[in-house]
Amino acid sequence: MRISLTERCNLRCFYCMPEEGIQLRPRFHFMNFEEVIEMAKIFVSLGVKKIRLTGGEPLVRNDAEQIIRELSKLPIELAITTNGILVNDFIPVLLESNVKNINVSLDSLTKDKFNSISRRDYFDKVISNINLLLENKFHVKINAVIMKGVNDDEVCDFVEWTKDKNVHVRFIEFMPFDGNKWDWSRGVSLEDMLKKIRERFGKKIIRLTDGKNDTAKNYAIEKHIGTFAIISSITNPFCDTCNRMRLTADGKMKNCLFSAGETDLLSALRKGDDIKPLILSNVWNKKALRGGINTIEDFGKQKNRTMVAIGG
Ligand code: SAM
Repeated sequence: MRISLTERCNLRCFYCMPEEGIQLRPRFHFMNFEEVIEMAKIFVSLGVKKIRLTGGEPLVRNDAEQIIRELSKLPIELAITTNGILVNDFIPVLLESNVKNINVSLDSLTKDKFNSISRRDYFDKVISNINLLLENKFHVKINAVIMKGVNDDEVCDFVEWTKDKNVHVRFIEFMPFDGNKWDWSRGVSLEDMLKKIRERFGKKIIRLTDGKNDTAKNYAIEKHIGTFAIISSITNPFCDTCNRMRLTADGKMKNCLFSAGETDLLSALRKGDDIKPLILSNVWNKKALRGGINTIEDFGKQKNRTMVAIGG
């Protein structure tokens, strides 16, 4: 279960948020502290065992610490996806709340490129916070969206990085969302990424066993302490085993990142309705493939939100 805590973000990654930003709305439209906890409890009562907090940037929310502490009391594994900028302020709460798995987005290992992709100047902060997480023994996955002519020349550098750094890099195929000017000619496929990696590392590549519901295909290089993986939602979707559900910051449930349809749980919760039937029907109505997008040609035709307003 992914719960987005906010649509706000302290970065402006061009593939995620439109250049002009998104229309911010009054606080009333979004789940407050009590509603986030109530929603989480209902999902847990239906069998959810893992909750990942996301956004926007989850750690920019004023009550993020309170939410993490409260959710950590539930019988779940709690995880976070963050851009890493504020992580240093959260180390104590993450440790005390038993949050072990942290995904940090990092699209480039070079400062200029990172700053130009994210349209902000936080490269050094993110790198130092990744190191801080590793020093504190968190399991750190690095998310990198790979795009042609932007950072595809760094795929092997990221893999090389795993030699001495205990990070788990995940290369993500560029996905279409509203406002991100998606065009597959700018995307890099799983096959093309693997080709580059094979050319450099050849027989040293080890195919790891994927977990039952992994969205990533996992690999390592002989003798490297970290690993790498590829998330190929475009060219090799994994919908048959994907068990992710998403709750947006404004309380709408989505059964797929690509789904056009949403179920308004927050309005129902505020009216005092039982939202469990709504949740179940949302799950049962999940489309077989990519929220109903069956071919690459169909991408971009279906209305969706911006990624920052869904929660990755
Ligand atoms: N702020 C947090 C962060 O930076 O990780 C959490 C939210 S962010 C939307 C979650 C993930 O979505 C990031 O790893 C980001 O790279 C990924 N993402 C955003 N837009 C994407 C796109 N168009 N294609 C693929 N992944 C995307």
